[in-house]
Amino acid sequence: MSSCETKSSLLIIVCESERLVFERDFPLKRFKLKRALSDFLLVALFPDDIQGTILRRLIKYFPSVVPLVSVEGFDVAKRFSASLPCCVAQQLLRTWANGWTTIFLMHENELCTCLFGCAENDTLQHCLFCIVLCSVVDCALGSSAPVCLLSRLALSSPSILSACRLYVVCSCYHTVKASHCSRFRALCVAGDVSAI
Ligand SMILES: [Zn+2]
Repeated sequence: MSSCETKSSLLIIVCESERLVFERDFPLKRFKLKRALSDFLLVALFPDDIQGTILRRLIKYFPSVVPLVSVEGFDVAKRFSASLPCCVAQQLLRTWANGWTTIFLMHENELCTCLFGCAENDTLQHCLFCIVLCSVVDCALGSSAPVCLLSRLALSSPSILSACRLYVVCSCYHTVKASHCSRFRALCVAGDVSAI
C-alpha cells in the first residue's frame, strides 16, 4: 500500500471513528479526537480475546461446566464483572483464566498438596472446594458457598455475594501462600481450627 493510500485509509478510519463518537456523545460531552482514535485503534490492533481465553481454560480445567456456559451467560458475567470494583473484577478474571499461582500451575517442587492441610493436590479445581479454606470463608462471610461450580465461579447468575465470596477465597489463598504458608500448615497439622 502506498503512503498516499495509507493516509487515505487512516483518514477514513478517523472520520468513521469521529462519527461514531459524535453520535454517541453529542451533545452530552465535548468531542475528543485523541480519545476516539485511541479507542478505535486499540480495538483494531488488540482485539479483545479474553472470552476465547477463558473458554479454553474452562475446557481444560473445568470441562464439566462448559456445556452449561452460553454466550449470553458469559456476556452477563462479563458485564457484571466490569461493574465491580477493579480489585474484585481482577480476582474473578484471575479465577476464570486459571491464573491462581497454585503449586501445580507454577510447577513448584516442594509442596504438592493443598496449602490448607488436605491430601488433595494444590490446584484451582481443589481450592474452590477445599473444605478448610471454604469453611473459613463461610465462617467469615456467614454464608455457605453455592454447591454448583458455575455459581461458585460467579459465571451463573452472578451476584455481589458470589463475586465477593470468590474474591475473598482467591485473596485468602494468595495471602496464605505469599506470607503465612508455613504457619498455616502448622496450624492445619495441629488441627487448630480456631486459630486458622
Ligand atoms: Zn484443601
